Amino acid sequence: MSKLQTKDQTYIAATYARFPLDLVRGKGSYLYDADGKAYIDLGTGIGVNAFGLCDDVWQAAVASQAATLAHTSNLYYTEPCADLAELLCNRTGMQKVFFANSGAEANECAIKVARKWGAREKGAEYATIVTLEQSFHGRTLTTLAATGQDAFHALYQPLTPGFVHVKAGDVEGLEAALQANKVCAILLEVVQGEGGVIALSADYLAAVERLAKAYNILVMVDEVQTGNGRCGTLYAYMQYGLTPDVVTTAKGLGGGLPIGACMMGARCADVLDAGSHGSTFGGNPICAAGAISILSRIDEALLAEVRRKSDYIFTELSGAPGVRSVSGLGLMVGIETDRPAKEVVADCMAEGVLCLTAKTKVRLLPALNIPDDALQTAIAIIKKHCAN
Ligand SMILES: *Cc1c(COP(=O)(O)O)cnc(C)c1O
Repeated sequence: MSKLQTKDQTYIAATYARFPLDLVRGKGSYLYDADGKAYIDLGTGIGVNAFGLCDDVWQAAVASQAATLAHTSNLYYTEPCADLAELLCNRTGMQKVFFANSGAEANECAIKVARKWGAREKGAEYATIVTLEQSFHGRTLTTLAATGQDAFHALYQPLTPGFVHVKAGDVEGLEAALQANKVCAILLEVVQGEGGVIALSADYLAAVERLAKAYNILVMVDEVQTGNGRCGTLYAYMQYGLTPDVVTTAKGLGGGLPIGACMMGARCADVLDAGSHGSTFGGNPICAAGAISILSRIDEALLAEVRRKSDYIFTELSGAPGVRSVSGLGLMVGIETDRPAKEVVADCMAEGVLCLTAKTKVRLLPALNIPDDALQTAIAIIKKHCAN
């Protein structure tokens, strides 16, 4: 074990089963360990480094903001935060944004909006939020309650009440839940990430929208992982013709710094009023300046490249020896392998390619601008270790 690993394990809470890898620097789609060995990065810090590591444009935006105005609290007006909110609204049709510091916090905001909206529009007892089995919405006690995976629930009872989980794709099950409970909203990921990189069907999402209208509930889409170009459109819901009432995002938005956003559409834009929610760091100028530098470059040309690279990955891996299936959307890819995913990931790491897992799958979340040669090299190595 390296000195760093010993120190880390001595002083840091043991919540992470880290890979035995000491990383010291990164540039673009390459990471370098303490011995100077290079790795092609297909994990991007779990979908965070949208334009790779230490991207020049992002770095300049962040450094310049850090040298100008780093933090003010939300007691005052600052330009980066307002500019970012305007950009998000212009590009989504949403009307208001609340800034948080993480995906879980963006979802906490969405849950508050749903409950406050439900109380106003339907009555205080309409506080239940429907979410999907195999979903992942965060690690706070309330977003854990929203997360439809029993494994996460057992450790921290009692969780926040008021969540009902239904099977993804089961329209009748959803309608039954809407009849049996006093519901204000449904919260879902268009492509379930941590749950195994599973895209919902367009038919199911159309049914969700139809039932949401019929039962007068909000449709809230968790785009923490799928958003900001990851799936080949600015937000993944845009590919399904969906018009959500609330969209949450984080991960790739900040390009490497912590920021979360909860966007609210016409039906609930005025739900949050002074004093009803807040955050010390939310909309921090440095994080916001970084996010502007990311979001403003996710244009149609970049998105077309994301889709082209996605096609390349799906074509290369589908039907390859040892590959049972390839799932996902855009540059959010799940690979079901004959070999245990963990072994494939370990072998790829030894050969200089960093991948993630999701449930029993190998998961890839490369930078949106990963160079073709890096992608080709990495996919060839993954293919080799899937076949072993
Ligand atoms: C990662 C993730 C979250 C939690 O985000 P944090 O920034 O870790 O709090 C929530 N929802 C989805 C879909 C995610 O992928």
